[in-house]
Amino acid sequence: MSVKLLTHQNRAALLDEAACLIKKELCMSNGPAGRCGCITCRHIDTATHHAVRWITPEGLYVLKDIEPIFKVITFALPPGEKFFFVMADVENLSATCGNKLLKTLEEPPDGYNFILLAKNVEPVLPTIKSRCHIINVDRVGHESVHMHPLVELFTSTRVLSPSKLEEALRESAPDHSESVELLDEIVSKLKMRMLKKTITDIAATRLKILESFMKRPPGQGGAKLFWKNIFLALFNK
Ligand SMILES: [Zn+2]
Repeated sequence: MSVKLLTHQNRAALLDEAACLIKKELCMSNGPAGRCGCITCRHIDTATHHAVRWITPEGLYVLKDIEPIFKVITFALPPGEKFFFVMADVENLSATCGNKLLKTLEEPPDGYNFILLAKNVEPVLPTIKSRCHIINVDRVGHESVHMHPLVELFTSTRVLSPSKLEEALRESAPDHSESVELLDEIVSKLKMRMLKKTITDIAATRLKILESFMKRPPGQGGAKLFWKNIFLALFNK
């Protein structure tokens, strides 16, 4: 791990991928990556995990944005412990901020990891790039690898078609209890986007509707109808 630079044209996908990478390091259960639902994964998804610091400035980075990093790393971590800094939009790192970070990125103190995110690698400061392991998230096939088809459909910003929903339901055939877990995962993903300000007004409205369905979970055998009702509430106005 240590210092990675992830690239993808979609900011939300980058944040999801960062969360996935961190879960792989911190999650204690053996559930499938990204959807185990343990307390650690939940805290990572809602940006409340004590060992993860999300740095998501609006516009250009200023020194105030990166100062917390230096404060945190003055404390040595106990052996075996890990801490993650996620820095969004590192295309917006000014030369001043970049220079301040160079030494730390060159040799992060034991246990400290950096995940840098950029829509485009080109404009990232060369001195920063040279210290990172660069990963193109497009090429590792982010969404299809980690996400359940229903999670992918309902967290997408696109309008969902009935045939896509049918297909996902046929393919995955979730039962009633799995459906509740999946809806929970969809809601926490959207909430994470809200925290990181990558959510649109439309998505915020959808989130409210989805949350209302969490209060009336499906009974045994009711999973298909449950998802269809969600679909109708979201897209059939
Ligand atoms: Zn977990």
